[in-house]
Amino acid sequence: KILDKKVQQWKYTTCGYCSTGCSIEVGLDEKGKAVATRGVASADVNRGKLCIKGIFEHELFEASGRGNRPIMRNKPWDAWQPTDWDTALDKMAGEIKRIQSQHGRDAFAVVSTGQIMTEEFYTLGKLVRGCIGTNNYDGNTTLCMASAVSGYKRSFGSDGPPGCYDDFEHTDCLIAWGSNLPEQHPIIYWRLKEALEKRKFPLIVVDPRVTMFAQFADIHLPITPGTDVVLQNALMHVILAEGLEDREYIEAHTTGFEALENCVKDYDPITAARICGIDEDTIRNVARLYAKAGKAMSIWTMGINQSTHGSDGVVGINNLNLITGNIGTPGGTSLSITGQCNAMGTREWSSCSGLPGYRALENKEHRKEIAEFWGIDESFFPEKRGMFMTDILPAIETGQIKGLWLVATNPMTSMPNTPRIRKTLEKLDFLVVQDAYQDVETNQYSHLFLPAAVWAEKTGCFTNTERRVNLIRPVVTPHAESKPDFWIFSQLAKRFENGQKIHFPETPSEAFDEMKVLSKGSKRTLDISGMSHDLIEESRGIQWPYREGMEGGKGDPRLYTDGVFQYPDGKAKLIALPFIDNNERPCEDYPFWMNSGRVVEHFHTRTRTGKLGNCNKFSPTPYMEMNPDAAMELGIKHQTYVRLVSRRGDAVVLVQLTQRVPRNMVFIPFHFHDCVNRLSLGLLDPHSRQPAYKQCSVRIEQTDQK
Ligand code: SF4
Repeated sequence: KILDKKVQQWKYTTCGYCSTGCSIEVGLDEKGKAVATRGVASADVNRGKLCIKGIFEHELFEASGRGNRPIMRNKPWDAWQPTDWDTALDKMAGEIKRIQSQHGRDAFAVVSTGQIMTEEFYTLGKLVRGCIGTNNYDGNTTLCMASAVSGYKRSFGSDGPPGCYDDFEHTDCLIAWGSNLPEQHPIIYWRLKEALEKRKFPLIVVDPRVTMFAQFADIHLPITPGTDVVLQNALMHVILAEGLEDREYIEAHTTGFEALENCVKDYDPITAARICGIDEDTIRNVARLYAKAGKAMSIWTMGINQSTHGSDGVVGINNLNLITGNIGTPGGTSLSITGQCNAMGTREWSSCSGLPGYRALENKEHRKEIAEFWGIDESFFPEKRGMFMTDILPAIETGQIKGLWLVATNPMTSMPNTPRIRKTLEKLDFLVVQDAYQDVETNQYSHLFLPAAVWAEKTGCFTNTERRVNLIRPVVTPHAESKPDFWIFSQLAKRFENGQKIHFPETPSEAFDEMKVLSKGSKRTLDISGMSHDLIEESRGIQWPYREGMEGGKGDPRLYTDGVFQYPDGKAKLIALPFIDNNERPCEDYPFWMNSGRVVEHFHTRTRTGKLGNCNKFSPTPYMEMNPDAAMELGIKHQTYVRLVSRRGDAVVLVQLTQRVPRNMVFIPFHFHDCVNRLSLGLLDPHSRQPAYKQCSVRIEQTDQK
């Protein structure tokens, strides 16, 4: 009622934080100022609900630290000089050309994000692949979703989560791997909880820590960090030993069964229990529950992805679902829960890892198709993808990369081993930071800052975790002289030779039309040819595939319903995964596992939520969860400060004593600058190049701080 008096008008858009994809309305007062946010009751995803981040999202438009105009300087730490857009973009294009002519095309790298619109990703891809021509182009999604992408491709022949939230309402058993849903994705958790209230089914949570989700589970499996593949193999060992697999499905729709069967023979529950710390009877019990359930599904987040075995962990989940016939049916699926609001959009259309629309640089037909569509010479494209984000930053150290453009990403807080990243960024000849907030930590090292509009100051789409394309309508005009990323990409393109020759879309809707043409194809799952911006808004989001001719604004909720996968033979691959233990483990000098994760109040590196009073009030400072027994042994008290030390660096944190963590583990939220990533390990998954953020070893030292 208080809001109703203040709000003169509600405007529809989509939440700009996480991949859940909640539909929201922003309330404007009589001066057009955003003063409130509420959930949209008719939206399939959130049905009117919002989490704390969404509730206060309207405060972001005028939050402190917004960039007012482009600024530049000769070198980091000099005073900033304000400038105009033409001068800033001329300077940027000039520096890119200088670096490329002196050191080669790939000496300039681009790292984007999961935060901007899909149409913007498509346009950025056209600019980077078609005009600038560097092959060192990646997104910060390598830090969160690369293992899921890699795992889906290895199992099914293509990326794309096959399930949806509605599967909660049909499943008979759910395993959550390394996912703390109530804090990471509160609205998806609420959907799951609603389903559980209607129809009870076993909820099993695999997590080394007693998370909020683990507390609600029927069975909690407190696994030893980094050993998920062992548990997956052991579950399959029991299923095959007891004849609980779906033979018919395996024979009709998969290849590689024999090798998988031979591999899992070595992972009997007794052996597995010794490695992964879950007792053998529980392993047997969970295997039987999953295989006999009827319909069973697995969901996962960073506990699987952020590991040296991340991609294998995803393949292991897919293996488990394939041998039990749980792919593509209501309630039978393997569903990765993504992180950023448009992590899916970058996977689909950005060209980071290849070419738009899930096309690969390695595929000649794909290169030809896009070159013809864009009107450029096919030889302009490289024949295989370049560096991942986690390889680009080390390549600065070796002098391979001289210039870098960061779009809405903040490696000074988000990359592992930030003491090393600091030294790395100082070596760049030219660093451009494009972000809504000028005070983002990485901007300390830049030569040029481009102020970007925030999500609901512009138009475009996000794709959520369940492949639902949602529309973002602008609810206010861009702050000061900040510009939509779409405009920045199109204007920069004009400064390159190819950019003057090829057509760049004038509006996001025109970019969407190009994407629709590129998505058409009877064998393509990523088909959006039946969608339009207006239809997406009217339907409150549409899942792909939504082919030309489909009606009613409802796309296919599931992939692979006919058991036909994206490999040329139409079959999914079962892949044998022998476990190789390559983690950094606790030892005499560093006796604790360090684990990291989210808190509900904050998003990523706090560039936004760090500015919201209500989010900060509940989670103002970095802290470390520690087991009381371990603390007693070391004489450490609750609410005192300690120094954590790893082989990479150190950080001072506030102690919270809790039974949530086992005796040999500490847990720290990852959001805070100069904290957990001063300690974390940069070891990478060999397939996805995603860092193993969650598994490293530390020691605890007392400090004088009270
Ligand atoms: Fe936004 Fe995610 Fe919260 Fe929904 S759950 S309101 S999408 S942050």
